[in-house]
Formats: sequence, structure tokens, C-alpha cells
Amino acid sequence: MRDLWQNTLKHIDDCEGPSVLDGVREIYRECRLEQEDNRLTLVVPNGFVSRLVSGRHQESILKACRTLLDRDNLDFSIRVSEEKKAKKSRESGRKAGLPMKEISPKVPEPEWDNHLITRYLFENYVVGESNRFAHAAAYQVSENPGKSYNPFYIYGGVGLGKTHLVNAVGNAIFRKSPEKKILYLTTESFLNEMVNAIKFNKMSEFRERYRSIEVLIVDDIQFLSNKERTQEEFFHTFNSLFESGRQIILTSDCAPNEIMTLEERLRSRFSSGLIADIQIPDFETKVAILTEKMKQEGINLSEDVIYFLATSIKSNIRELEGAMIRLGAYQTLMGKPVTIEVTRRLLSNIIQNTSMPLHTELIVNEVSTFYKVSPKEIRSKKRNRSISLARQVAIYLLRDLTQMSFPEIGREMGGRDHSTAIYAFRTVDENRDSDAILSRDIEILRRKLLQSL
Ligand code: ADP
Ligand code: MG
Repeated sequence: MRDLWQNTLKHIDDCEGPSVLDGVREIYRECRLEQEDNRLTLVVPNGFVSRLVSGRHQESILKACRTLLDRDNLDFSIRVSEEKKAKKSRESGRKAGLPMKEISPKVPEPEWDNHLITRYLFENYVVGESNRFAHAAAYQVSENPGKSYNPFYIYGGVGLGKTHLVNAVGNAIFRKSPEKKILYLTTESFLNEMVNAIKFNKMSEFRERYRSIEVLIVDDIQFLSNKERTQEEFFHTFNSLFESGRQIILTSDCAPNEIMTLEERLRSRFSSGLIADIQIPDFETKVAILTEKMKQEGINLSEDVIYFLATSIKSNIRELEGAMIRLGAYQTLMGKPVTIEVTRRLLSNIIQNTSMPLHTELIVNEVSTFYKVSPKEIRSKKRNRSISLARQVAIYLLRDLTQMSFPEIGREMGGRDHSTAIYAFRTVDENRDSDAILSRDIEILRRKLLQSL
């Protein structure tokens, strides 16, 4: 069933965007999807991949399979491959057949398939300045669906947490009132369903289905632009729900008045409730989100690496998360913690390169302020104790935090020879172990610098 698995991955790429599987594509290539009637078993190489799937992609996989196999009631489980298990235990000299940890999560069958993404909850949504208003409004809506803000319209850039937030609303409502008919769907699914209904002459069923919904969540409605027939149908659905006091929640990448070629009556409908935007998160919020995600994924990256990611990846949280997963996978496979250097290399395609002169200047200035020695003195030939120490620490940090070579560092440090730079680096590196003050000072400087890179 290799085809089904390949098609599933492709379907996820097509429907949810390639970034969903960023960083795990290689790892997932090792899996196999088996099907027996409506039972799907994903055979994975090890427990790590099993956790990765159940923690992050299970819903997406299921959703894709439902569409590909055209079946609603699929039962999904994960199994760690026997082959790999046997091989692993042979390699480690253990007796084959010892029971290993296996995870086979049961997906509960809801009576009504609401298509909500169950891992997106308020509990794991980090609130910061950038999303405080949207979060507060969303929470209100979940407490009083249909009553407080209707429609509720959230907009913001790619990967900033819109889909997460609206699913959190849906999941919260579902928990409180499981009998409520909630439906989450993307504008594309709405469009597809409608096209099919037209094709098979089932428009009245289609309308009936939508008009019985009590909470309708439609994601990415900017895709309605240019689709007149869908807009028309959406307008009728919207009106009938709205008039009977049902909650409507919409997301988009821009404000209603910025959606191109959106019919005026839809535009004014969308604007008639509450509009909240999500902004780019600040550094602290990004660190908090990464920390939360690491907890969920069982990944443990060093603080340095976290700070580095939060400063280097400017705006897209999905990208930030993808980077973290990739580093986590690397760490597990290599069996040792990733360093900033490895991070830079692995993520060179997404991390914006800051220019080298800035690094040098920044590092030398920071060290100079810290040790109360001027940058000029650091680069000079003077050799008194405090100046030498500041110079050595600057060289150490230049090597540690930039990709500069020793000859380059030597040149930057007042035209010194590369062997001087190497010697300074080694001295600090060795002394750090025995000198607690030096070690602490370097940590303070590193942290400060990583935040301003
Ligand atoms: P959007 O729909 O705006 O493109 P998503 O909701 O898909 O963005 O978010 C992208 C990823 O970032 C998701 O995995 C989501 O869980 C995560 N994310 C975004 N904002 C937050 C947040 N405030 N707290 C926790 N995770 C977040
Ligand atoms: Mg989204």
C-alpha cells in the first residue's frame, strides 16, 4: 500500500500546504500505510515517529484518507514495524521479541463528523500581545456561541495561529455541548462539496446539510474571491444561519475590505460582527510557543537554540515549529544535542543571513560594554589583563556565534594572525570549565547577543 501512503502525503501537501510536513517528509518516507476495509494501520520505523504522527499529523492523515478512500468511518492505528524492532534488538544484542513501547491511539468516532482539528485547543494556545484581543474574543465566542460576536472574523498573516484559534473555539464548544452541530472546514472544501453537489444534482441536500449547522467555522475565506457561484451559495448559507442565530466564524489572510472581488453584500455581512486581527508575535511569545510545542512533542532543545530560532525566524510560527521538529528529529537520530552551528546549517534555507560586519560590531561592542574596555582597546595591541580578557572573550564569541573562520576573526580583531585567534579561543574554551565567573559571563553575553542577532 505504498501508493496510498504516498498519495496521502501528497494530498496533505496539496490541501494544507507543504509546510505542514516540513521537516518530517524524509522521516515519513520510511512508513507504510496498510488498509483492511475501514481499518488503517500506519507502520512506522520507531516510537519517535509514532509519537510524531499521533501528536502532529494524525488528523491530517485521517482527513486525507477519508477523501482518498471516500469513506467516513475510518479506524486509525499506528504500529512500530516488526522488522525494525527485530533488527534493533539484534543490533543491541537483546533477545528479539521483547515487548517494545507501542502507541496505538484510538480515534473516537463522533456522531457528527465536525472535522475539527482536535489538537488545537485553548490550553495549548500561547497568548501574547500579538494575539491577545483575538484570543479574548475567541474565548468569549466559545462561551456564548451565537450570542456575543456574530460573525466572528479573524484575520492575519500566514502561520500566525488563525486555524489553531478557530479550532480551539470549536473544540471548546464541543466539549461543553457535544450535541451541538459544529462544522469546521476550509473554503476549498466548501467549494469542492458544492461543485460535487452541482455535478450530482444534490444541491438541495447540500443546502439542507449546511443549514442545520449550529456553529460553522470556515477557514481562509480569502479563497472565495473570484468564485462567483460559490460566493452566491455562501451568501445564502450565511444568511440562513445568521438569521437563525447560529454562530459563524471566519478566518482570512486579510480584512474583509481587502479581499479582492468579494461581493459587496458579503463584505458588509462579514464586517457586521466582530473583526479581530493577529499580529506578528514578539520574541517572548515566540519563545513561549516553542517551549509549549517542545513539551507537546517531547523535544528538548537547548535555550540557546530556542533563542536563536525565535530571533532568526521572524514571522511564521508554522515555520518556527517546522524548524523545531527538524532539529528535534536530528537530535534524536544523532543522539546528541544540536548546537547553534548545526542549527544554522540545517536551516540555512529559511534563516535570513545577517551580515557579518553587523555580527562582529555587535559582539565586540557588547563585550566592550560588559568588560568596560573600549572596542578600540579590544582591537589594539595592548596586553594588560582586562583588555586581553575582553579580547579573548570577543574572539571566543565570534567563533561561537558566527561562521567566521579563524583568519577572518584575526583580521577583524585588529589584523592579528589566525594562530592568535585560535590560541585565544582555546584558552577561553579550556578555562571555562574551571572558571565559574568566566563561564557565567560568557553565558550572559551569549544570551544577550542571541537576542539581538
Ligand atoms: P494560520 O492558520 O494563521 O496560517 P495556524 O493556526 O495553522 O496558522 O498556525 C501554525 C502553527 O503555529 C500551528 O501549529 C499552531 O499550533 C502554531 N501556533 C500559532 N500561534 C500559536 C500560539 N499562539 N500558541 C501556540 N501555537 C501557535
Ligand atoms: Mg490556517
